[in-house]
Amino acid sequence: MRILHSLSVLTILFLVTLCSACAREPIQGVIITGQNNHNWPVSHKAIKMILENSRLFKVDIAVSPAAGEDMSSFDVDFSKYAFVFLDYNGDSWPEKMNTAFLEYVKNGGGVVVYHAADNAFTDWDEYNKIIALGGWGGRDENSGPYVYWKDGALVKDTSAGSGGSHGARHEYIMNQRVTSHPIVDGLPERWKHATDELYDRMRGPGDIKDLLYTAYSPTEKGGSGREEPLAFTVEYGKGRIFHIMLGHCGDTLEDNPAMQCAGFQTLLLRGTEWCATGNVTQKVPADFPTETSVSLRKDYKQH
Ligand SMILES: [Zn+2]
Repeated sequence: MRILHSLSVLTILFLVTLCSACAREPIQGVIITGQNNHNWPVSHKAIKMILENSRLFKVDIAVSPAAGEDMSSFDVDFSKYAFVFLDYNGDSWPEKMNTAFLEYVKNGGGVVVYHAADNAFTDWDEYNKIIALGGWGGRDENSGPYVYWKDGALVKDTSAGSGGSHGARHEYIMNQRVTSHPIVDGLPERWKHATDELYDRMRGPGDIKDLLYTAYSPTEKGGSGREEPLAFTVEYGKGRIFHIMLGHCGDTLEDNPAMQCAGFQTLLLRGTEWCATGNVTQKVPADFPTETSVSLRKDYKQH
């Protein structure tokens, strides 16, 4: 009888724990988009699906005025959000919004810098500290050193040259460079990313905190012949930044291998949770790519 009683207490405890987990409120974030030299009408939808299908996140979308239009009315109330997801590469934000964004990050806000968001705002020094590395937009040696990985360490190459390039899209191996970090814990050290651009010769202040993954950029594909940093964290004040250069958006949600990659989606989900909370509660998914085979989630959802 006593055994039965303690069993039922345990069952109740188990159910209570289970229900509180189900009832956990999603983490609130905002995707900033609306101008990009990339296909933002598709990319922001893919990002929203990836984040919300995990049930861990709920996102609002802040769409800027179109390029060249009056930006003065564009504003985001950053205080409502645990993270800000940057899918924006376009005209300057209003000064008030710039100031509010920097305050948000300094005071501990989370930021995800996604793909061409690191092409934006070449002349905004504080933004470049937040992204650590950027490309295009006239970037050159004045923007900072070219940062790459060689012989087990990051090299900061201050020689002259333009910042930002990529060769032809192809599948490539991601190489883990950090021994332990919540974003990568349990993930394979080497895995194959689906067809994507591979950013190279990126320049900036270059203050990377944790280098998570690099990939080799082959010269035969038009790349640099170097191991390029593609996913890393940055610290700015109390803020946590997750920068991921992967994820060139295709023509449609259906034709979009770089964003359909289960490895890309896993990194995005883990990086977003980490920058919002400082922790990662997600298990390693069974469909994660291996060193020899890519893995796609065509509906942007883990099965
Ligand atoms: Zn691209």
